[in-house]
Amino acid sequence: MQLYNKLSAKERETLIDEAGEDRLTLSFYAYAKIGNPHLFRNHLFIAWDQIDVLGRIYVAHEGINAQLSVPAKRFEEFKKFIDDIYFLEGVRLNIAIEHDAKAFLKLKVKVRKKIVADGLNDSTFDVTNKGVHVDALKFNDLISDPNTVLVDMRNHYESEIGHFQGAITPDVDTFRDSLPIIEDDLKEYKEDKNLVMYCTGGIRCEKASAYYKHKGFKNVYQLEGGIIEYARQVEKQKLENKFIGKNFVFDHRRSEQISEEVIAHCHQCGKACDKHVNCANEACHLLFIQCEECAEKMNNCCSVECKEIAALPYEEQKALRKGKGNSNKIFKKGRSKVLKYKS
Ligand SMILES: [Zn+2]
Ligand SMILES: [Zn+2]
Repeated sequence: MQLYNKLSAKERETLIDEAGEDRLTLSFYAYAKIGNPHLFRNHLFIAWDQIDVLGRIYVAHEGINAQLSVPAKRFEEFKKFIDDIYFLEGVRLNIAIEHDAKAFLKLKVKVRKKIVADGLNDSTFDVTNKGVHVDALKFNDLISDPNTVLVDMRNHYESEIGHFQGAITPDVDTFRDSLPIIEDDLKEYKEDKNLVMYCTGGIRCEKASAYYKHKGFKNVYQLEGGIIEYARQVEKQKLENKFIGKNFVFDHRRSEQISEEVIAHCHQCGKACDKHVNCANEACHLLFIQCEECAEKMNNCCSVECKEIAALPYEEQKALRKGKGNSNKIFKKGRSKVLKYKS
């Protein structure tokens, strides 16, 4: 049995174009005890490959974290399959507001040690003692309370293009880094302030809220379903939208527009812009913000050096790359000294 992708991204793109069908982009997660993640992984792959699900899914002993796209007409089948797994029955599916049939081009189901890289030793605290989950309405109430400290649990390149009004947006590269930094910044508020946190879809707050309670924060709240679900509720219930800018997402769409404001700047010329791109030099691949004009002028590259490399014949580029990993720059998302306007 074929348990891995056979199609390249290009081949898949062609298939999606030919099919011309709507696909839904969605995400979900669940913390649950999974005895044999490899077996579970294969179970998911076989079932989802058959109904044409694409996406990036992490499975671990601690649970599942999935970002995926499903053909709209097979959504009911997909939902039924999910509901038949006892720990996923009725799980909240965070359905995107903007869909793109090409949000994902492969089905990747990976077994990991953890479903989110949090760097925490879970045996040292009670991971089930979480913060209070709040919906959009209650969240709006809470964050307008002067006794509240609002913290964005995401990374710098995510909050740069959009965040809640008045939120603390830590300048961190990873979730793992952010936990001790935030704790230190907020230690004087442990006793009497409301600590309210949010992230993209809620998963990071599940662990973080328990961690901060363990660290002595008394009043901890988390936005249920994250920004994705908040945006949905705001629209549906006609609530005031307190999120400004775009919500960064981890698929080919890169972001969802939540409000009209553009709060970021092109990293090359400084003008208002909130469009993330990856440097066209494959050996660089740096994630950064680039406006249309700069993209044209720089041939979609982050620097003159990358522009020169990207212009070389493919074989020459490959020879240059040989033996040099580019993982460091991928990790250093949006950080490079070549970017003049990245603060
Ligand atoms: Zn520019
Ligand atoms: Zn570059």
